[in-house]
Amino acid sequence: MRHDVVVLGAGIVGICVALHLQKRGRSVALVDRRGAAEETSFGNAGLIQREGVYPYGFPHDFGALLRYSLNRTIDAHYHPLALPRLAPFLWQYWRHSRPARHAEVARRYAKLIEHCVAEHEALVAEAGADSFIRRVGWMRLFRTERERDARFAEAGRWHREFGINHRALDARALQEIEPHLAPVLVGALHWTDPISVSDPHGLALAYLRRFEALGGAFLQGNAASLEAEGKGWRMKTANGPLAAAGAVVALGPWADVLTRALGYDFPLAVKRGYHMHYRAAGEARLNHPVLDTERGYFLGPLARGIRLTTGAEFALRDAPRTPVQLARAEPIARELFPLAERLDTEAWMGSRPCTPDMLPVIGRAPRHASLWFAFGHAHHGLTLGPVTGRLVAEMVTGEKPFVDPAPYAAERF
Ligand SMILES: Cc1cc2nc3c(=O)[nH]c(=O)nc-3n(C[C@H](O)[C@H](O)[C@H](O)COP(=O)(O)OP(=O)(O)OC[C@H]3O[C@@H](n4cnc5c(N)ncnc54)[C@H](O)[C@@H]3O)c2cc1C
Repeated sequence: MRHDVVVLGAGIVGICVALHLQKRGRSVALVDRRGAAEETSFGNAGLIQREGVYPYGFPHDFGALLRYSLNRTIDAHYHPLALPRLAPFLWQYWRHSRPARHAEVARRYAKLIEHCVAEHEALVAEAGADSFIRRVGWMRLFRTERERDARFAEAGRWHREFGINHRALDARALQEIEPHLAPVLVGALHWTDPISVSDPHGLALAYLRRFEALGGAFLQGNAASLEAEGKGWRMKTANGPLAAAGAVVALGPWADVLTRALGYDFPLAVKRGYHMHYRAAGEARLNHPVLDTERGYFLGPLARGIRLTTGAEFALRDAPRTPVQLARAEPIARELFPLAERLDTEAWMGSRPCTPDMLPVIGRAPRHASLWFAFGHAHHGLTLGPVTGRLVAEMVTGEKPFVDPAPYAAERF
């Protein structure tokens, strides 16, 4: 088999890269060792975060650091034994999260984020995937006036600097929109620009079907078998050997397995996260995805049920699962919204692929002219899949990129 480009990894990022290349007339093979979007892209919270211009930073205030160090919070958890291995990453992450540097990172990140809804909408339209999309924004809920007022002020600044829209809701306005939330809240920040997905796996498969309808091939194979051949690449697949002029690494949390073998040393780590579905009790309805801000977990009305997703777990990617954040969040979520029984037999876990400077790696490999990188999307891989797909495809085909790719180049490491 001979293709123009092989895309390694069929998560939301790889699928979008493959689709955008195939749309541009390239013959593309998309290769994964399992089915499409069955890893991190399967179980996320489903938000396309137009407001997410500030990638999640490492806390810098003393109180938060102290709370996290006790390892009892819901929004963050760590494996103490993993800390020595994670320390170099965490140190860099902390440095890039200093307020002035974080603001600089946000200005670069915003150039990608500003296109996230438009680029999804374009793919949704051509993939006929409208039934997965909810255009109702999402909400940050507040239990204290202090947090509420600080977040309202921040939203005002983001509106002025990045053009992001919101509505500030007091307790009464919130109760009218979400009558089944317990009356313990002092208000909410409703981000009105983002959209959300009722089934992230379903949306990814819809994009995959569009890719296949355009003639793209989805194959099973192990990326570890990739080898340079002349100026191009070859690898083994379940359908036989494959040769391609170019290759794109879109392996999400496993990217470093291949990049290390190819001689690159990226300081990558993962933030693991969990989900569980619940039936809504009785007639209860949740109309928007919501974040319980002060407690640190998400609830979203997904197709399968109410999906509770957890924050960041700092652990080695392949360490045994420890869904303690889910165990801590569940009783609090039950007090906030009438959840009935669990719908999954065990918690799902995914690993957000993270770089210490919070920016993804997008662009040509520094030492291989026909190799491209598209990974490290951390909390926003669903959000940025189509933006990344378009950007990589434009770079591979030599078109003028619609976003300046320089801030995301691999050379920065
Ligand atoms: C709890 C949670 C909630 C989240 N919520 C959101 C959200 O609301 N919005 C948002 O934008 N993002 C969210 N994210 C982040 C988002 O899910 C990820 O950034 C995104 O899924 C990463 O996509 P990816 O394609 O890079 O990686 P993946 O989806 O992990 O895809 C990588 C692929 O590579 C394949 N692979 C690995 N090794 C090999 C190999 N050797 N050979 C072949 N194939 C291989 C895997 O099988 C997999 O299919 C959330 C994440 C978590 C964990």
